[in-house]
Amino acid sequence: MRRLLLFIVTLTLAACDGGASKTKHALVIGIDGLRVDALQQVSTPAMDVLIADGTVTYEAIAGGELGTVTEQRTLSGPGWSSILTGVWVDKHGVEDNGFDDARYDEYPHFFARVREKNPAAYLSSFVTWGPINDDILASAEANAAFSPQDAGNSAEGDSAVTAAVVAHLAAETPDVVFVQLDDIDYQGHRAGFSPMAPEYASAVETVDSQVGEMVDAIVARPTYSMEDWLVVLTTDHGGNGVLHGLQSDEERTIFIIASGGSAVRGRVVSPGPGHTAVPPTVMKHLGLEVDDAWGWESEPFGL
Ligand SMILES: [Zn+2]
Repeated sequence: MRRLLLFIVTLTLAACDGGASKTKHALVIGIDGLRVDALQQVSTPAMDVLIADGTVTYEAIAGGELGTVTEQRTLSGPGWSSILTGVWVDKHGVEDNGFDDARYDEYPHFFARVREKNPAAYLSSFVTWGPINDDILASAEANAAFSPQDAGNSAEGDSAVTAAVVAHLAAETPDVVFVQLDDIDYQGHRAGFSPMAPEYASAVETVDSQVGEMVDAIVARPTYSMEDWLVVLTTDHGGNGVLHGLQSDEERTIFIIASGGSAVRGRVVSPGPGHTAVPPTVMKHLGLEVDDAWGWESEPFGL
């Protein structure tokens, strides 16, 4: 009897080999205000593992294309709008953190597009910066959403979000999880967006360990061997001094990581796309088609 059971287990693993028969899932982690030089210079062991196991660019773009209708301020509102809708300000309409002229009815959060192609999709959004769920996610239907509105500061918020994501990954089977962590940006505005600023560097280390906790939670899933997870990381903007919003290289130049799942291992891409590449990247990993009518700006990244 024992021998027969072992035989069945071996067959199951062999059938899953290569990922073709595994269920597809994506975890997208948005790290607010993480500058490229800080990612490269501060100790980030969890993100280093993801980079080694995937494709990275340190020359991706926030702020649209300079001098064109797509140029947008390097602020959180326009940035997260581009990351989540796949288009720039000429389409999503968000010029600052006020969301007054948002056109999410025409260019919705990509969760709406995932659901268009797969009505049964389980979609989750956990964010420290509330407007992402309150304003952008309002254009789509999510199965689970969490934002610690009462957290005293963004560090407490990030801890609460990380704990909620870890619990979610242990209890549920989401197709796509979006996470936003905010404390690096908060410390950048206080101490400076620079790996040389101790408070900023310390926040980068903390967020890296939170990224590690979430990735560990995926690997710990009882069904992990039957699942194929893509992990995507990016940021909404860099920073210059204690500010961002303008078009300096320090504010515009960002990173994108696509790791695990169907990502190409060990590749560094230069130059990179805009962070509008996130939605098509997730769609491709999920095996879902992108319609031309959506007006998305970018091709998938790193797959
Ligand atoms: Zn931001």
